[in-house]
Amino acid sequence: MSFLDRLKLRLATNLFDAVHGVRYLTTGSARHEGHFEDGEWRNWSDSYRVRPAQYSRPGTIEDAARIVAQSGKLRVVGGGHSFNESPLCEDTLLSLDRLNRIIEIDPASRRVRVEAGIRLRDLNAALWKQGLGLPVLGSTDTQSIGGLIATDLHGTGRDFGFLSERVRSLKVIAADGETKSVSAGDPLFHAAFGAIGVCGPVVEAEIEAVPSFHLAKTTEMVDRIATENEIETVLTRNEHISFYYVAGDTDSETVRMHAWNRTTDPVTEDWEEKKTLSELTDFGISAFAPAIAELLAAIDEDSLVSNLLAPDHRLVMPGSVGFGRRLFYRHDEIEYGVPFDQWRACVSEVMEMLNRRDYFSVVEVRFTPNKSQALLGPGAGRRTAYIELAAPLSQPVEEVYRQAEAIFFAHGGQPHLGKKTSVTGKDMARIFGPRFDQFRAVKQRQDPHGKFRNAFTARVFEQGL
Ligand SMILES: Cc1cc2nc3c(=O)[nH]c(=O)nc-3n(C[C@H](O)[C@H](O)[C@H](O)COP(=O)(O)OP(=O)(O)OC[C@H]3O[C@@H](n4cnc5c(N)ncnc54)[C@H](O)[C@@H]3O)c2cc1C
Repeated sequence: MSFLDRLKLRLATNLFDAVHGVRYLTTGSARHEGHFEDGEWRNWSDSYRVRPAQYSRPGTIEDAARIVAQSGKLRVVGGGHSFNESPLCEDTLLSLDRLNRIIEIDPASRRVRVEAGIRLRDLNAALWKQGLGLPVLGSTDTQSIGGLIATDLHGTGRDFGFLSERVRSLKVIAADGETKSVSAGDPLFHAAFGAIGVCGPVVEAEIEAVPSFHLAKTTEMVDRIATENEIETVLTRNEHISFYYVAGDTDSETVRMHAWNRTTDPVTEDWEEKKTLSELTDFGISAFAPAIAELLAAIDEDSLVSNLLAPDHRLVMPGSVGFGRRLFYRHDEIEYGVPFDQWRACVSEVMEMLNRRDYFSVVEVRFTPNKSQALLGPGAGRRTAYIELAAPLSQPVEEVYRQAEAIFFAHGGQPHLGKKTSVTGKDMARIFGPRFDQFRAVKQRQDPHGKFRNAFTARVFEQGL
């Protein structure tokens, strides 16, 4: 790419981020959810849209079941926070926005029963009031519980990794409208996690929470090689960690490490303002001054410049909000889970590829234990490291993501189906083996005539078989 083309791309990206960053700050997160307006449904980033013949918002599970039974083709939507066209349907789009109630919450047993359209932030707030919380969460809380189940939400953790670990039972509607209640051991229960809705809409979930806690989040620049060499020690010392690698420098000296640990310390004074400031700083550097990020990655973490530009900091927050962060720019993501012992080699190849292409991206790495209840999912069936590339929508992603995917495949990667992926049914059969066969048997029983099928799910679960 010529210097002029690179400059043009960089300016276009900066303009794009400035506009959307300001829009986010001034309008709040509401405009950053999937929404239906003037007959059209769009996902959170406006990158996918559809005009369904019928947009249904049932207020009861019985109504939802009736709509499912009577519909031709149907897809279900939650918060519209996925990065692909999996929710789209031109026939019936079933929104669970009105199925968003807490049915029952019992502080003694720590069990909560919710309708699946409830947003994670609302569930977190209700749990917090009862002295309860969830032990691990992902990086945002705008999604619906049903959408998180449908993609087997993972966070990062030594002892806990998934929302599915805490789910005790589900209600799922089959294509003929029958509503089934299922729990661990039932094949439908395990298939529903990560199924992106092809086994039917999940309309209710029973979740076992834990006592609420404060979370101390520390952010620091650390020596890359020493940290990679001592990963097991780092994980033993911390309950949750994630790394931000900065593409553009394969020989980077340092990497940014976030660690979250439960604490009995009181919350930091003005933690909300400090959290926002830190999110804005991250946004400013990664969106507008990638050269600073690259410089920080290239220099010693104890140097004066590093300490000035990216000082270590620690923030104690309520556990209900401590895992999440706001992202002020609209972007695309691809993410694969690779076997834990492959992560170093895989990250290094991804970074090398991005460097060769002169493509700036923050690459986030997270870890989970082998605890998912899903049949399919990025972290199902093994201890996992996740490698995620996030690129602003104004950057071309297709070719870079295709090359990243080839690297993920070579390292035994499992796709996150809420994000970008080009996998086909043939790939899924190779990746998941007998788990995929079990999944397809459940899918066939739940939806024998392909009511929940669209172009995306046909590719992911059928193409090439
Ligand atoms: C900023 C951001 C941060 C993210 N962070 C993480 C993270 O840390 N970890 C992680 O794992 N993922 C993460 N994701 C991905 C996101 O959690 C998933 O894409 C999730 O599915 C979104 O939930 P939703 O309610 O918005 O679902 P939607 O986008 O509405 O739907 C996603 C898919 O699930 C299906 N679906 C939705 N509701 C149901 C239901 N009730 N029953 C059956 N199927 C259903 C839809 O048909 C669609 O195929 C992130 C996404 C964004 C945009």
